Amino acid sequence: MRFSYTGRMTAELNPRRLAIVPFTQTAARLSGARDGSEFGRLLPEPAGSHGVGQVFFEAFGELRPNAQGAMSPWISLAARTTLPLVCQRCLELVNVDIDFSREFRFVATEAQAELEDNQSEEDVLVSAPDFDLLALVEDELLMALPPSPKHQQCPRPVKLAVADKDFAVPDEAVNPFAVLGQLKTPKG
Ligand SMILES: [Zn+2]
Repeated sequence: MRFSYTGRMTAELNPRRLAIVPFTQTAARLSGARDGSEFGRLLPEPAGSHGVGQVFFEAFGELRPNAQGAMSPWISLAARTTLPLVCQRCLELVNVDIDFSREFRFVATEAQAELEDNQSEEDVLVSAPDFDLLALVEDELLMALPPSPKHQQCPRPVKLAVADKDFAVPDEAVNPFAVLGQLKTPKG
């Protein structure tokens, strides 16, 4: 294998281990599509077995002057995917498109991030030489989940629990001690 080292890093950027400061200093861009299975936290039960489609993401870095004129690293990040969620009306699965687009300013330390996150409207994160950009994508997609996903139009008429005799439960079944009593009753 032959290496042609030019003094400039030309290796493909790894979104799981992104060097934040160089990425912003060079105004770099990074985009891609990753398999949904990489994003374990996006798999809500019971829809998990149906999987998640691809997650598309795009990031670009830049340096912007802060209020004091010093240059700060910023990353603009956007992503989208489609998730199978449980429709809150009919309880069947519904494919929901989820996306976000946000900008993050990076600081050197956790303490600085906490301080500045409280003081400003900006989203402040801690810089790292091996930042997991896809974990951030996952966090943001989770926050973009609709609180109550529903079909535009449910595929089947909705069964109303209150109108369904099958949902009528004898009162004693609600009491766990009543159930115990039944278990103790000798047969015959
Ligand atoms: Zn529905």
